[in-house]
Amino acid sequence: MNTLHEPARDVPVVHECDVCVIGGSCTGVFAAVRAARLGARVVIVEKAGSFGGVATLSLVNVWHSPFDTTYRKQIIAGLTMEVIDRLRRRKAVTDRERSPHWAWAFNPQELQIELDELIREAGITPLLHTQFVAPHVVDGQLRAAIIENKSGRQAIRARLFIDASGDGDLCHRAGLVTYAVAHIQPSTTCAAISDYLVDGVQLDQVIREHAAEFDLPAGFAWGTAIPNSPVYMLAGTRVYDANAAEAEQLTFSEMEGRRQVRAIMDLLRKYVPGWRGVLQALPARIGIRETRHVRCQYQLTAADVLQGRQFGDAIANGSYRVDVHHQDKPGITLKYLDGTQEYCCPGAPPVRSLWRPPEKVDPTFYQIPLRSIVPGTFPNLLLAGRMFDAEPEAHAAARVMVNMNQTGEAAGVAAWLALDSNTPVTTLAAARVRSKLAAGGSIIL
Ligand SMILES: Cc1cc2nc3c(=O)[nH]c(=O)nc-3n(C[C@H](O)[C@H](O)[C@H](O)COP(=O)(O)OP(=O)(O)OC[C@H]3O[C@@H](n4cnc5c(N)ncnc54)[C@H](O)[C@@H]3O)c2cc1C
Repeated sequence: MNTLHEPARDVPVVHECDVCVIGGSCTGVFAAVRAARLGARVVIVEKAGSFGGVATLSLVNVWHSPFDTTYRKQIIAGLTMEVIDRLRRRKAVTDRERSPHWAWAFNPQELQIELDELIREAGITPLLHTQFVAPHVVDGQLRAAIIENKSGRQAIRARLFIDASGDGDLCHRAGLVTYAVAHIQPSTTCAAISDYLVDGVQLDQVIREHAAEFDLPAGFAWGTAIPNSPVYMLAGTRVYDANAAEAEQLTFSEMEGRRQVRAIMDLLRKYVPGWRGVLQALPARIGIRETRHVRCQYQLTAADVLQGRQFGDAIANGSYRVDVHHQDKPGITLKYLDGTQEYCCPGAPPVRSLWRPPEKVDPTFYQIPLRSIVPGTFPNLLLAGRMFDAEPEAHAAARVMVNMNQTGEAAGVAAWLALDSNTPVTTLAAARVRSKLAAGGSIIL
């Protein structure tokens, strides 16, 4: 590769803290809040202009069920419930009971402001429009994060780091082992549009029928009304074969996603007579389901998820089904903990079958162990969010936000405990993390 030499330079250390969180989705914010509420001095770095990640910047306004698959046993609480309660007070959330599709739809703009409030109340130092660019490693020790923003290139010195960047930027640049699976789940540009219902019927089918004419990849269009508003969040685009952790592929994905949004609008205008829908907003960023993963002390397997394996060091519980958006054929496959599966191909009835023989008792939820967010290379580095170590089918279920929120909370609590007891995160007793999480409002099973 053609290279140039960048001269060495001194970088001002603008913050010294206990915990530096890279990435400010709900995952990162929840990590920061849990650590700060325990007494840590926390700085959070977010490259966008607001917190919330996919839930706000990409308009994905849906969180899944906090119950197990029977809807009788609550398995998720903590900051997820706290935020939902806060949004409810602002009439910014719609509830749906016993739905495998979603439990809450919320207003992403209100969530942005709510996350600002949480950060303020916890006394966290926020840095928006600030990108983590490099780790500062001295004698094999991770000492600082180099950041860039309007003020230039700066450093944050911290005792412990949490990589919640989705793409594992800190881990990757610190040289940890990362990997991308063969079929990365596609990215999707959502859109806020008006008039998605005609005579009470959603327009998904029209999009499906005419997708090819508008060069739209075969697949499902779905979405949700934003609570108490005439605006509808539509997720009908799909960008395949692009790893959004690479700059050029991310650029391609953004532009291709927007092209597809326009194609959907043109399609609806052509095939729905009298339709007056308006494109009201595009997301600040394409919604990314998956990029790189980071090798950790334990890789969550598909069997762990589908057989509901319980871990002694579990820090998160989930019940969302395995949801694979295929790269190699149209449609999605949904696998359930009760042994059933559905292949849903656009325009055709779902094909139902069993992925295992029936059993007397089915598991009703699965777990994520602490070891799947502990990379192990540095004693002061944890991760949280979708880059956690998981096989493709395990990730396809566990990646949803109610689960990733819990990995953030666990990372924040583990960070504080490691610092408080002067213990490397690699040998921290999981029992202590679990009991501290429970004391702070999480459900630990
Ligand atoms: C279209 C779509 C629909 C989905 N549907 C649902 C759904 O209905 N329900 C659900 O729960 N989940 C859904 N998901 C999955 C879910 O959104 C993601 O798995 C989840 O948001 C991952 O969270 P995260 O915090 O790991 O990553 P992200 O939400 O991607 O957050 C990463 C954050 O880090 C910041 N960041 C990245 N790099 C840097 C850097 N170098 N410096 C500073 N900041 C950085 C980003 O700006 C971002 O704020 C969907 C995803 C997509 C794309």
